[in-house]
Amino acid sequence: MTQKHPFITVSPQMRVVVMGLGRFGGGVGVSRWLCQQGCRVVVTDMEPADKLADSVAQLAGTGCEFALGGHDTAILQHAEMLVVNPAVDKAKSDFVQAAIRQGVPITTEINLFVQRCTAKIVGITGSVGKSTTTAMICQALTACLAGSPPRRCWMGGNIGHSLLADLPNIASEDIVVLELSSFMLEDTPAIGWSPHVAVVTNVVPNHLDRHGTLANYAAIKKNILRFQTRADVAILNGEDAAVSEWQSHASGRTMVYRVCGSEKLHLLVPGDHNQSNAQAALAVVKALGLSNKLPAAIAALQTFAGLPHRLQLVHTDAVRPGHSIYWYNDSKATTPAATLTALQAFPEKSFICIVGGYDKHLDLGELAAVLAKRAAGVLGIGATGQKIIDLSAQTGLLPQNRLVYTQTLAAAVQQARLWLHSPDPFFADVKNVVLSPACASYDQFPNYEKRGDIFTTLAKQRDLSDAEKI
Ligand code: ADP
Repeated sequence: MTQKHPFITVSPQMRVVVMGLGRFGGGVGVSRWLCQQGCRVVVTDMEPADKLADSVAQLAGTGCEFALGGHDTAILQHAEMLVVNPAVDKAKSDFVQAAIRQGVPITTEINLFVQRCTAKIVGITGSVGKSTTTAMICQALTACLAGSPPRRCWMGGNIGHSLLADLPNIASEDIVVLELSSFMLEDTPAIGWSPHVAVVTNVVPNHLDRHGTLANYAAIKKNILRFQTRADVAILNGEDAAVSEWQSHASGRTMVYRVCGSEKLHLLVPGDHNQSNAQAALAVVKALGLSNKLPAAIAALQTFAGLPHRLQLVHTDAVRPGHSIYWYNDSKATTPAATLTALQAFPEKSFICIVGGYDKHLDLGELAAVLAKRAAGVLGIGATGQKIIDLSAQTGLLPQNRLVYTQTLAAAVQQARLWLHSPDPFFADVKNVVLSPACASYDQFPNYEKRGDIFTTLAKQRDLSDAEKI
């Protein structure tokens, strides 16, 4: 945001425009909270009412007005505040630019929340691992804070619902854990805010369609440290070359975590990346002065069962006696880096991988090479599927007939089944089918959750002809 509006007082009768309701209710929490404060709220969205029916229904009875199916600048007249959804690319939005020209103060749901929250805030960012690390931190802290007097750990930001409505219940002794996306961190400098404890998991290219260059994207992520004071703590992944360099940029204490050299935890969730996420959580416990509760934190982390759509085992198929096929839904892997991590969790040539989706203009070369080396078969779907298949073919590591562009997810699942049931001895040892797209879902699905749910349904259908029906 180009404007500087350090604190906007929200008062009854204030005229507020909320931009971006979202089909899945991204703007519902803030709109409802503003109505509860007595504001006169107009909610605008590009999508028409019928596509937003669920979200609109959630605001029934609040008194919100709606201006849907486009952003009409007429509603900015007399507006005293504009709340912009993080998904809106403000630089490219005529509506936001008009608001700036008219001098309408602009803010976001996260900015409204952090300015009013009296509890300590732990913020988590990174290119991958944010949600998992956020959930692990909350699980560990909940265990540490149990007891008397009871203190609570609250989880919000990119991972969950708006915490604005919870403000009256969040005590100053509680701890709030917020997942912060790069889109959210674009706006926090407008209020000069960074969390008390900032955790950075890694920085690899992502969202370059919006942020332009990797340098710009990294600079936005670094906003998480930018306004920390000497009393604050930056917790950095020492095994990420870019992030560990940020130590010299931190104003407060820095703590660096690593898997290498740390005692391995007995986690339910697989892979070194989850060991790393757990080390971040333990560092947070120490940073908050709860080292005496480390055993409770470790016990809590060891029962962490993982989040849906992240290398989630969704189905086991007993194809023949002594031979099962495991279906993994990793639909949340929306970057090549996330998929590269997933590919390391399986033995070489033991899996078929389904990749491809919306084109974020990320480099797919390394992904294609690792797929060709490690996967037994690769199935491409969506906008980038053909490109990944072509790049994998160029490596010469997998024969052409094991690299197939199927376009749809249903056809990919069906082709995986054909391979698994074929007499080709090459597929005899394949045990896993993994949806790990490395791309966002928007080209074919409303979101990654829907993509993962459809994959799960398809995985559970044994009949090849049934798979075509979805
Ligand atoms: P985010 O919220 O940043 O998108 P998630 O926690 O939802 O990240 O994890 C998405 C995917 O990223 C997971 O399925 C996993 O494959 C991968 N992943 C998780 N944690 C890490 C990590 N620390 N480093 C690299 N990859 C990770």
